[in-house]
Amino acid sequence: MTTIARSYLLDRVGGAFTACDQQIGQPGPGEILLRTRRVSVCQSDVVIHKVGLPRIKQWPAVILHEASCTVEAVGDGVTRFAPGDLVGLGCDIPCGDRACIYCGDHGTGDWTSCPNTQATGHEFPGFARSHAILPKWFVDLGPIVKFPAGFDPAHACHLEPLACGLEGMTRVNNCITNRVVVLIGAGSQSTYALQCCQAMGARKIIMVNRGLERLERVLRDFGDDRVVGVRWDENVVAAVFEHCKPFNEPHFVMMNAPCREGYELSVKLMGYGTVLDAHAGVKGAGGKPRIAHEVDLNNQVHYKLQCYQATHGSSMHGINLAAQLLSQNKLPKIGLMTNDSERFFPDQMGAAIQRASSSDSLKVIINWD
Ligand SMILES: [Zn+2]
Ligand SMILES: [Zn+2]
Repeated sequence: MTTIARSYLLDRVGGAFTACDQQIGQPGPGEILLRTRRVSVCQSDVVIHKVGLPRIKQWPAVILHEASCTVEAVGDGVTRFAPGDLVGLGCDIPCGDRACIYCGDHGTGDWTSCPNTQATGHEFPGFARSHAILPKWFVDLGPIVKFPAGFDPAHACHLEPLACGLEGMTRVNNCITNRVVVLIGAGSQSTYALQCCQAMGARKIIMVNRGLERLERVLRDFGDDRVVGVRWDENVVAAVFEHCKPFNEPHFVMMNAPCREGYELSVKLMGYGTVLDAHAGVKGAGGKPRIAHEVDLNNQVHYKLQCYQATHGSSMHGINLAAQLLSQNKLPKIGLMTNDSERFFPDQMGAAIQRASSSDSLKVIINWD
């Protein structure tokens, strides 16, 4: 039996998507055949489309990585998955070497630390395609998780971006539950983090953003009595500290705005016991700029217990946490990430990327059903 698989190929940076049909066969031993259900658009896809990415060496490219799929067929020896299962996928994937100390069967699981690290939609073809056959190492090692029967595929595609945020929020213990959290930026990563903080029992969540439009959308749709919005203007530091009371400073600062000013603001908010998650990297046409800041290892780190940390992408740790929160319905408002203006079909790929690049958009979803 063969399947006609449709891919939307991006011909070049700033280019257009062209549909391309191809026959694919049955999955081999250990492999699975997936049918794409929903794909959400990541800001990294917007960047790839706009300026490219050195990691993408082959054009035309198959981008997009935030996917939920139904298992159509499984190869010999596959026991963890069966036809009909709804699965969610991660972006950062093992390098494929089963003996790798990071990615292999006995590795640490820190795939993004592997010198041969690869990612879906970068080195590995993405999910701007209707079907995919996953190799045995992907099926065995992840990142792939099964959702409960009847779970909404439009919620399952949020797995990967949620996983990335949860990696950053859990690398250091005890910094969210019952704590005061500041989220810098009101884009999708901050909005996912906001919902995770609510699910994890944060005491207060302060969201800081420049633009009022998106901040108001997020507060309206996701806010509760623990959530406050602060306008990022010249009084932002004093305003954040005011909201931290009776504490003097926040316990956790997640820097989700990919700009120098975000880092400059984040370090001004560091106080007693504050953990900084340097979540959003800054890069531009000139590469990755140096953003320097002096830290006193004795007074700030030792005596004030400050912690400066970051994570990159997600491993099975974050993927499993995200799958749990989604499957147990701990993120009841996740569907509000996407409004009517943010829903597209595969033949509208260019328009979908365009919509995702606008400043008021939270999450664009492409429906393959
Ligand atoms: Zn993503
Ligand atoms: Zn590896």
